[in-house]
Amino acid sequence: MSEPQTETQVLIAGGGPTGLSAAAELETHGIDTVIVEPRTYVSHTNPRAKLTNVRTMEHFRRLGLADDIREAANLPVDWSQEVVFCTSLLGDELARFDNVFGQNESEQYAETAQQIPQYLVEETLREGVREMSSVSLETGWRVESIEQDEDGVRATVVCCIERHSISEGERREISANYLLGCDGSRSTVRDQIGSSFEGDVNPRNNLGVVFRAPDLAERHHHGPAVHYWTLNNEIQGFMGRLDLEDKWWLIAVGVDDPNAVDPREIITKMAGDEVDAKVLTTDPWSARMLLVDNSRSGRVFLVGDAAHLNPPWGGHGYNTGVGDAIDIGWKVAAVLNGWGGPELLDTYEAERRDVHEDVIDISTTNMESSPADLISGELDSDENVDEDSYEDIAQEIYEKKKLEFHSLGLILGYAYDGSPIVVEEEAALPETGTVEYHPTSYPGSRLPHSWLSEDRSIYDLLGEGLSLVRFDREIDVSPFMSASETTSIPLEVVDVDHEDVARSYEQPLLLVRPDQHVAWRGSRCPDDAESILRRVCGYPVDDS
Ligand SMILES: Cc1cc2nc3c(=O)[nH]c(=O)nc-3n(C[C@H](O)[C@H](O)[C@H](O)COP(=O)(O)OP(=O)(O)OC[C@H]3O[C@@H](n4cnc5c(N)ncnc54)[C@H](O)[C@@H]3O)c2cc1C
Repeated sequence: MSEPQTETQVLIAGGGPTGLSAAAELETHGIDTVIVEPRTYVSHTNPRAKLTNVRTMEHFRRLGLADDIREAANLPVDWSQEVVFCTSLLGDELARFDNVFGQNESEQYAETAQQIPQYLVEETLREGVREMSSVSLETGWRVESIEQDEDGVRATVVCCIERHSISEGERREISANYLLGCDGSRSTVRDQIGSSFEGDVNPRNNLGVVFRAPDLAERHHHGPAVHYWTLNNEIQGFMGRLDLEDKWWLIAVGVDDPNAVDPREIITKMAGDEVDAKVLTTDPWSARMLLVDNSRSGRVFLVGDAAHLNPPWGGHGYNTGVGDAIDIGWKVAAVLNGWGGPELLDTYEAERRDVHEDVIDISTTNMESSPADLISGELDSDENVDEDSYEDIAQEIYEKKKLEFHSLGLILGYAYDGSPIVVEEEAALPETGTVEYHPTSYPGSRLPHSWLSEDRSIYDLLGEGLSLVRFDREIDVSPFMSASETTSIPLEVVDVDHEDVARSYEQPLLLVRPDQHVAWRGSRCPDDAESILRRVCGYPVDDS
């Protein structure tokens, strides 16, 4: 902990998963970044997010962090890909989902999802950014206030801990070209730019508990699962292991007074018997469905929980924040590196807002079919229920919870169609569902994934700027390449000589952005290649 750097290209307020991911993205484009973060170390008291989803893992792969995340995880991805519903952990099984959350290998994505508590993600990302030459992580400081003009942003940061040469409460000023407010749900940056949250808070109280229970894993007979949902008339919730030793988490849903309840009683009720358990932490919380009215003011952007909050069912919160970080990261970098146009930064809100709204809607639907709502009729943990009732309950569970455990349609299928920097086609984007992902290269979509060899993904070939993916070397790409030279927009031709793969891409020529989304596609180079390139990078173009 030293004096923070006083000038940088991008200042990031907040070193949670969103801020750290934004810094890693900016590093790939050579942008000088300072992260200001109050917490000097990452506490292991509360796991918060447990799921790093397929899309976030793909981003981490590109940023060189995916292997580190897997190594840090306590539950290997092949340990379990199942979710079990039961009357209690030691009771009867009601239903079972497999291949949950995209944890199984597939042609459709470059990385499987990974169960890993958020604190291990943050530690891994902290270690990762500390090794990055253009990122400086300043812990023990927080952003207090900001001001900006057309030349830049100045933030006053205040020291939060007493240290050798600097006293707690001392202030410094950091100047930057841009500031990313990644400072979480109580964002100071949001207040400073006069934005505010709109939406609802769910009145139901929930309680998170982390505990050690040395013999619990051996006592139940459901086998490995990433979640065990317990449904009985005394308590509803879900639980799982945090490691392969003795650490567990649980969330009890709809607890009347979470501050008064004895967490050991909750463990007993969810387990279905007395458990030898030591409670480590408790965390009462309520779900929030909030979206900021405005996520940009001039040179300042709100990213992650500072901009949107959703119920945690389905595990979308931090993953959506990482998606934001990637989107704003490459765009700010493009502008600072001189190839992003004057309208590029406006597209951050234009592209991400629909994603935020969808995530809030879908997470709310998941929450509304919470365990308490799934019990149709009497279901006691210690009472035998006839086969027919079990079958009815199982059916209801499959119908209502499918979306929560299988949502690749949302995670991989979201598209920026309608964005001003995407060249739309006359036909509309093919209908996409939320549950199943149907790959398409329609402009705005994530480039469909293919394995080119056992461990070589098509994504591994893409460049840091724009990529022109060509499935047929006969196609003349010189109009695009000379436009790239004239405009100084970085463009790399990526030849993919796999006929079997080419067919699924719908067109043989695809212009792909740094975030792996398709910006334009065609069967040959267009006559107006320069105007397409300029539009995709946020320059005004005359469409007439
Ligand atoms: C019970 C629960 C379960 C969840 N499960 C999942 C899940 O499975 N998957 C998922 O994707 N999400 C999940 N989430 C949501 C996830 O935890 C958040 O979405 C995620 O932490 C957001 O990351 P962030 O970096 O935007 O914000 P935060 O993690 O809140 O980080 C903000 C950072 O900013 C710092 N900060 C605060 N004020 C300042 C300031 N003034 N100046 C500088 N820095 C500041 C803070 O110290 C903090 O480090 C869950 C949440 C809960 C509560």
